[in-house]
Formats: sequence, C-alpha cells, structure tokens
Amino acid sequence: MDQSVVIVGGGLGGLSAAIHLAAAGRRITLLEKNARLGGKANLIAEQGYFFDTGPSLLTMPWVVRQLYEVAGKRLEDDLELVQLELTCRYQWLDHTTFNAFQTLPLLLQEIERLEPRDVEGFLRFVAYTRRIYDAVAEPFLKSPFDGLGDMLTPALIRDSWKIDSLRTVDASVRSFFRSPYLRQVFNRYTTYNGSSPYRAPATFNIIPYVEFAEGGWYIKGGMYVLVEALTRLAQHLGVDIHTEAPVTRVAVEHGSARGVIVAGEERIDADQVVINVDPHYAYQHLLPPKKCVVQATQQPELSCSGFVLLLGVNRIYEHIAHHNIFFSHDYPREFAAIFDKRIPPADPTIYICASSVSDPDHAPPGHMNMFVLVNAPTTNGHVNWQHEAEGYRNMVIARLERMGMTNLSQHIVYEQIMTPADIESLYNAPGGAIYGLASNNLWSAFLRPPLRARDIARLYFVGGGTHPGGGIPLVLLSGRAVAHQMLSR
Ligand SMILES: Cc1cc2nc3c(=O)[nH]c(=O)nc-3n(C[C@H](O)[C@H](O)[C@H](O)COP(=O)(O)OP(=O)(O)OC[C@H]3O[C@@H](n4cnc5c(N)ncnc54)[C@H](O)[C@@H]3O)c2cc1C
Repeated sequence: MDQSVVIVGGGLGGLSAAIHLAAAGRRITLLEKNARLGGKANLIAEQGYFFDTGPSLLTMPWVVRQLYEVAGKRLEDDLELVQLELTCRYQWLDHTTFNAFQTLPLLLQEIERLEPRDVEGFLRFVAYTRRIYDAVAEPFLKSPFDGLGDMLTPALIRDSWKIDSLRTVDASVRSFFRSPYLRQVFNRYTTYNGSSPYRAPATFNIIPYVEFAEGGWYIKGGMYVLVEALTRLAQHLGVDIHTEAPVTRVAVEHGSARGVIVAGEERIDADQVVINVDPHYAYQHLLPPKKCVVQATQQPELSCSGFVLLLGVNRIYEHIAHHNIFFSHDYPREFAAIFDKRIPPADPTIYICASSVSDPDHAPPGHMNMFVLVNAPTTNGHVNWQHEAEGYRNMVIARLERMGMTNLSQHIVYEQIMTPADIESLYNAPGGAIYGLASNNLWSAFLRPPLRARDIARLYFVGGGTHPGGGIPLVLLSGRAVAHQMLSR
C-alpha cells in the first residue's frame, strides 16, 4: 500500500495527480525544474503589477471542488471563486461590440441587438450543445479512461449521432447563427483547446455549453492562487515537493520505470513514475533513446501557441473589461496562417485580460495590468522570434490603438514579451503548444498519448499532453484519471 511515486513536473496536472495519489496513501515526491510550481499556470509580479502569465479563465469549477473533497478540505475555506457577470466583451474593427453576459435575459438582449433572428438560434444552440455535453461528459470527462478502447463505450456508440462529429464547429455554428459577428464569437471557443473552428469537429461545441451553463470564473487574488492552494493541499497530504529539481532521465530497468535522475546526478528510486511533461518531450529527452525513434514519427498536430505581452499601463481604459476580445477581420485567414502556413497572423484576434478590473491591487492606483494574448503557430523554423518579436509587438499595439485604446503605446510603463519559443523553453512544451495536441480532426482525441505508457511498465503520464486534454479543468481531471489507473493496478 505504501508505494512510492515520483512525479516529474509541478504543473496543475502533476499537482492534481499528487493530491489524488497522496490521499490514497501513496508516498509522493514531486520534482519541478523551475523555481516555482504551476507550469503554464504561472505569475509575474513586478513594479506593482501582477500578471497571471497563463490561464485567466476557469471553467468547470466543480473539478477544483472535487480535488478539495479528495483532500478532505472545503474549497470555501481556501478560495474565493468569482463568477464574472460580463464573461467577455467582444469588439470589432468597425466598432461593433458584443457583451457576453452571464445572466440570460441580458445575454439575449445583446444577441437581439446584433441579429434578432439569432435569439431563437441561440436557444436551439444551447439545447444542441447540452445534448453533446450529456453524451460526452460521462465517458470523456468524468470517467478515468485510458485510450480508444475505454472511450468507445456502448453508450457513446449509441449516442454518436448526438455528438455531431462529422461536421466542423464552423459548419454547425453557421447553422444556428446568421450574424457574422455571432458566428465569430461562437467559433472562438475552439481556441480554448488551441484548435481551429474550421477543422475541429462540432463536438467541441461542448465548450460554449460549459461556459454558458456553468459560468466563466475568476479566482480572487489571481489565477495563480489556485496553484498556491493546490500546493497547500498536496503538502497537507504529505507530498514531498522539490523545486529547481530538473529530471534529466527516467531510470528504466528491464522494461520498467524504477525512478528518476535529478540534474544528472541524484537518483530517486520509486515504484511508479508519473510524467507531467508533454509525453513527446519525455520520449525525446527523458526516456531511453531507442523509444524516441518510434515515438518521434508519431507526433500528431500540436495545438496553437501564443504570443503574449504583459503590459503595465499608467491610465484606466474605461471600456476594457476583465476579459476582452478584439476580433480579426478575416477569421478563416487567421487560422490558415496559424495551422496551414504556420506564420503569425498579420491580422490577429487579440485577447486582453485586465485582472485589475476585478482585483484593483493587481496594478498601482490609476493603472491597469494587461495580459495580451495572440494565438500563434508553434515554433517551427519559419519564424525567428528573436528577430520578429519587436515588430509583431508594435503591430499588436498599433492595432489596439486603432480599436479604441487611444495612445496605448505612450501609456505603457512596464512591459514583457513572451513568445512561443519562451513557452517552449520555460515548460519543455514542444513547440510552445499551449494545450498539447490540437483537436483539429475527428480522430485527435484518440491520438493523444495514453495515461499509461504501453512500452514501459510503471510509467504514467498526466496533464495537457495526454487525456483528456489541455486547459485547467481537463488537466486536473487528468490527474484524477491517472491516479485511478495507478490505484486500480
Ligand atoms: C498563455 C496561456 C494562456 C492559457 N489560458 C488558459 C485559460 O484561460 N484557461 C485554461 O483553462 N487554460 C489556459 N491555458 C492552459 C493551461 O495553462 C494548461 O493547459 C495547464 O496549465 C497545463 O498544465 P499541465 O500540468 O498539463 O502542464 P504544464 O503546466 O506544462 O506543467 C508541466 C511542468 O513540468 C515541468 N517540467 C518540464 N520538464 C521538467 C523536467 N525535466 N523535470 C522537472 N520538471 C519539468 C515544467 O516546468 C512545468 O512546471 C493557458 C496556457 C497558456 C500558456
């Protein structure tokens, strides 16, 4: 019962696995290469500005609540989850706006303002996405599955017509909405897992359902508060956490994982090893060389990466909400740039999270903090970000100025740029992909590396690179799923 487990990586997936396994009595050592836990969910606090450098929106908060229950604690005693009434403010170059309110009557008013006939379309869309959720949630999100066999349950096969997997997100969105603006709004949800609405199956319309039905949430104090809270839960359960502890190799003997080597020197033995790093990275850098030859050829398409600007601004822009989207003029072209041409879009959609709107102490008085994110291709040799970053940054700022953020460039008093190359090197995320693999085709869910390594005994994976996918709730569920796999063996 008192088996030892080493977890490689202290991202949200690694922390979730640690909590589940420690609560079940396993002895856990968690090793993180960076100075701070959290992985892509990270923070920068500088010159009076606080920035979450990764996630800014929490969906499916029940997943976090479940983790607390597993640890025998109450979420309410530790975290303040805030449901934002205005989930996101959308804006276009022609100054059209759309406020995605959480309250249904307000939301319907906004839809009616853009296209009265789309009110009925929206209500049908919600009923349709609810059907998808009901068919998919149990086998895909709530059950700890481990690959194709586990997913193709009789219930899912029986309900396969409901999940609308044979047309794209865009095709289905068009069938419900007439307004080009609303089509763009509902297509955008596919980017929550780093994919293209023009290629991802319509099953991913589950994402707007989750946001509209369960809400878009913020964690008071900032999203990094979640990492700190999960760290406390893990420590309460006795997890032994080491930061600045890069694992350089997994010790594999006679086909079994037996422990890890830290910083090329210290060996830590374990009965089981869980890797929170992307499996493709692990097969290339941490596992015995002969394995990577096989695996490297099997790498399916990665999700998009991101070009990030962290801006401290010495004025308040009154029209900026907590979450804002400034849409591109030509959405199909933007996704073709990212996934087909694999170049940064010349006319990008720009997301801004200004958490200082909800948490004023995230910026000095009279100032705002702005996390600016543009979807970008993964690193691929076409773009040398060292040369391109400055010019791309200037284009993004100029564009925001044209869309109503008057004289923005003159008000920036703190600034940091993060490119896809930075995301790649900071977290060992292949290509700087934000969400692991893309979900750009019908089979992508089945192409994700499994939670249990098939070629090495006692070796497991957790996080956005494996099942069920990227994003906070899914990587936390991944921790639950891998723990279930390990405990049932
Ligand atoms: C810019 C950005 C915006 C995002 N926005 C959202 C959002 O709004 N909502 C949402 O739900 N999700 C969002 N995400 C996605 C979300 O952050 C990720 O899906 C999630 O945090 C991934 O967690 P993970 O555990 O799978 O992996 P990671 O966070 O990548 O964790 C892996 C960990 O392993 C460590 N590691 C790597 N190699 C080694 C080694 N050799 N030894 C030891 N440790 C190692 C890394 O340093 C890292 O800490 C965003 C991500 C980014 C980058």
